[in-house]
Amino acid sequence: MIELKTTSEIKKMSEACKISAQALKLAGDYMKPGVSTKEIDDAIRKFIVSTGAKPNFLGYGGFPGSACISVNNVVIHGIPSADIILKDGDIVSVDTGAFYDGFNGDNAYTFAVGEISEEAKKLLKVTEECLYKGIDAAKIGNRIGDISNAVQTHAESFGYGVVKKFVGHGVGHHLHEDPEVPNFGKAGRGPRLAAGMTLAIEPMINLVGEDVKVLSDGWTTVTTSGSIAAHFEHTIVITSDGAKILTKA
Ligand code: MG
Repeated sequence: MIELKTTSEIKKMSEACKISAQALKLAGDYMKPGVSTKEIDDAIRKFIVSTGAKPNFLGYGGFPGSACISVNNVVIHGIPSADIILKDGDIVSVDTGAFYDGFNGDNAYTFAVGEISEEAKKLLKVTEECLYKGIDAAKIGNRIGDISNAVQTHAESFGYGVVKKFVGHGVGHHLHEDPEVPNFGKAGRGPRLAAGMTLAIEPMINLVGEDVKVLSDGWTTVTTSGSIAAHFEHTIVITSDGAKILTKA
């Protein structure tokens, strides 16, 4: 069931989203060679807790980190570790979320460490564009499939692989709610979009091939091809004036 949020609920949810966005922005300050993903996770957890919120990924399904930190060929759900040390040329996808006053925020960004390849720069640029094309399609009168199709069409026009095994989602009282928001599909299909719908739109795009596999830790999701991948995400609300991004720092 898709739960539409009232204006006062959106106001509360905006706070959770703002904290999530601030945590993500903070992660950007740590994108330097020699920093471990555990250090970044610690900083994110301390920040979220300092606001009175809770890191909503911590303990979710048993996840051990406060953020998912995914380096290079890791698409999503990277487990923060003192053994994963950033180096020049890495790309790092950080996914942060906060639970505050009964609501969740969820957002992600792929950062560059030092100087990255032209190939990586382009993948990051296009994946972020995919996110905004999805957001632009998130308007009353459209359906979920219009968001999905906008993301897929843009990514595939560059020959990139759209991850199909994991999808975006509704978000609100729960971190994952209905509906699913795939990054692939046909325009004009799926649930109709309505005011008060709150969605996490999150393209996950591989440089080569769409296949991914989950490693034996049960979380770390890598590209089957071994190529790099990017992940950008915002939590949005659909209004009569189109989509409004809630995860703004
Ligand atoms: Mg999400």
